[in-house]
Amino acid sequence: MLSIHILGKKMIHQQVPLLNQQQLIDVLNTSKTPTAIYVGEQASIQFANDAMLNVWGKDRSIVGLLLHQALPELDGQPFGELLAKVWREGFTHEGTSTPADLLVDGKLSTFYFDFEYRPMKNENNEVYCIINSAVDVTERVQNQKLIDEAIKNAKALEEEQANNLILTSEKFELESQVQLISKEALENAEQFKRLVEQAPFAIAVFDGLDLKVDIVNAEMLAIWGKDKNVLGLPLSRALPELDGQPFEDIIRNVLITGIPYAAQETRAMVMRNGELRDGYYNFVCKTIKGAKGENKGVLQVVTDVTTQVEARLALQRTQEMMDMAIDASNLGSWLIHPTTKKLRYNAALARMYGYDKDTEMTFEDAMGQVSDEFREPLTKEIEKAIHEGGMYDVTFTQQRFNDGEIIWLRSFGKINKVNGETLFSGFVMDVTQAKKDEQRKNDFIGIVSHELKTPLTSINGYIQLVQRLAKKEGNTSIADITGSAVRQLQRMNEMINGFLDLSRLESGKVVLDKTDFKLDELITEIVNESRMIDSTHIIELNQSCSVNLFADRLKIGSVLSNLLSNAVKYSPHAKLVKVTCETTEKEVKICVIDEGIGISNEHIEHLFDRYYRVESKSQISGFGIGLYLSSEVINRHSGKIWAESELGKGSTFCFTLPVN
Ligand code: ADP
Repeated sequence: MLSIHILGKKMIHQQVPLLNQQQLIDVLNTSKTPTAIYVGEQASIQFANDAMLNVWGKDRSIVGLLLHQALPELDGQPFGELLAKVWREGFTHEGTSTPADLLVDGKLSTFYFDFEYRPMKNENNEVYCIINSAVDVTERVQNQKLIDEAIKNAKALEEEQANNLILTSEKFELESQVQLISKEALENAEQFKRLVEQAPFAIAVFDGLDLKVDIVNAEMLAIWGKDKNVLGLPLSRALPELDGQPFEDIIRNVLITGIPYAAQETRAMVMRNGELRDGYYNFVCKTIKGAKGENKGVLQVVTDVTTQVEARLALQRTQEMMDMAIDASNLGSWLIHPTTKKLRYNAALARMYGYDKDTEMTFEDAMGQVSDEFREPLTKEIEKAIHEGGMYDVTFTQQRFNDGEIIWLRSFGKINKVNGETLFSGFVMDVTQAKKDEQRKNDFIGIVSHELKTPLTSINGYIQLVQRLAKKEGNTSIADITGSAVRQLQRMNEMINGFLDLSRLESGKVVLDKTDFKLDELITEIVNESRMIDSTHIIELNQSCSVNLFADRLKIGSVLSNLLSNAVKYSPHAKLVKVTCETTEKEVKICVIDEGIGISNEHIEHLFDRYYRVESKSQISGFGIGLYLSSEVINRHSGKIWAESELGKGSTFCFTLPVN
């Protein structure tokens, strides 16, 4: 009778009936642990549950037999001896990973067991039976054997590779992180877990051959696009999308061989928001040792480098597209190192230069082909661009390497900083055809202008004759009409002269014809001429320029004349035009000031370009070459020319010339 005290109350319990012998045997029979009971030195089998029969590959008919009768294959193996010893001496015998050859399904195979022979004793300390329990650990032992063998091979291989294995710094860094962490792991598993979870880079630890996700931190889960539910799952189930990708094999291989694995910018497809996405990763895998030094699992550290790689690939693609476009457009591209002058160029440039040698063209080779008259100015422009920065844009001629033909090139570029390095780069194009067309046009303009001048001079002569006759006869109306005709002819003459000058200038035929002359005399002369041609405006002269100049008198005169005629032309509603001249020690400054339509700011810097005209409603005729020619003349005299203006208020055009 059992009596139990609960909360101070004495309770009387009912008697519980004990299990009978058969029931006890049934319970033991269903136990999953293989168990058998023997009696006697010869080990007569009293009992063997289903699990043990299964291990032996026998059926229940062997109960009652001696062990060596039931399992004759054990002959020559130590088990019979051991059982006899336990029976005689009464001590428990334990074995770990012990091999046993058993005949199962008609085949003799080696199995491994963790087992125990435990003697049961009566009150006289005599053994009355032996209980045998055993766990089949064959799979574990075989895996371990596999690993041991692989490690042995890998170690040999590793030693062989050690000398030529060069890890990049990043790999190395990750490796050392891994090593550090592995060491921690051995010291304290819990601490290791915390370390992994808090690590600022993505880490996972996989356990066993099925690569169970043992530890994983938030960074790694973010890369995988998963949550903590993957913990404990084999990798193939945690990330089924890895099927068909090499990563599982790589990690398992590391586990088996013990050889660390490092890879950079490896492409992997992982799930992101329910979609398979491409990414790029650097990663390192290394084994983690168990308590007995065996390879227990694999530690993987991953860095997501998708953004960097994608940016680089995009840049590469753009670069390729650009190279293709540049090559297709026959645009030569070049790059010069500012100090070493090392030259790099594309295929289109080599074609353009007629360079077909196998060796690289040097900067000196290229400069050697430049025509003599351009070599010095070109060198100066290059040096200027390198030292002062800004845009470089020059047009010059050079001889082609292969056939010696002279070609016109336009080369433009600028200084750029690439990865902290200064590089001078740009493009070059063959403008020979355009130059030839321009030359033909200039020749045409030159010829036409020249041919027009002769009849124009005759007409002028005839009209002046008519004018004189009319005056003599007192026919004032005819005299007035012919006077107007003479002024128009004068304008036409100026225009034709302008075109002639332009064509001469373009073909490089303009030569300065310098003489000594008094500047004030020239100014007075030109102003008076203008007054004669146009009586509608008042031209005021205010000068203190009694200096001698050594310059091309005719051309300086035409510059002033051009500025004056513009001042009048672009002042349809104003009357006053002023001409001033001032001297300093070094230069003279002549200005023409009007109160006309003026010019808005955005046009001012282009006024001196060839054919540039400001669109206006007043429809004032012209060709946009007067100011271009004037600036050429002034520049060739080492002077300066410029304009200041305000729209609707008038303009001031000035130029300077050096004295002496
Ligand atoms: P053109 O007068 O034959 O057009 P120019 O080269 O002499 O050519 O002048 C270029 C342009 O500059 C003119 O078309 C005109 O728009 C502008 N310009 C020149 N002088 C003046 C001025 N005094 N006032 C206003 N605009 C002017």
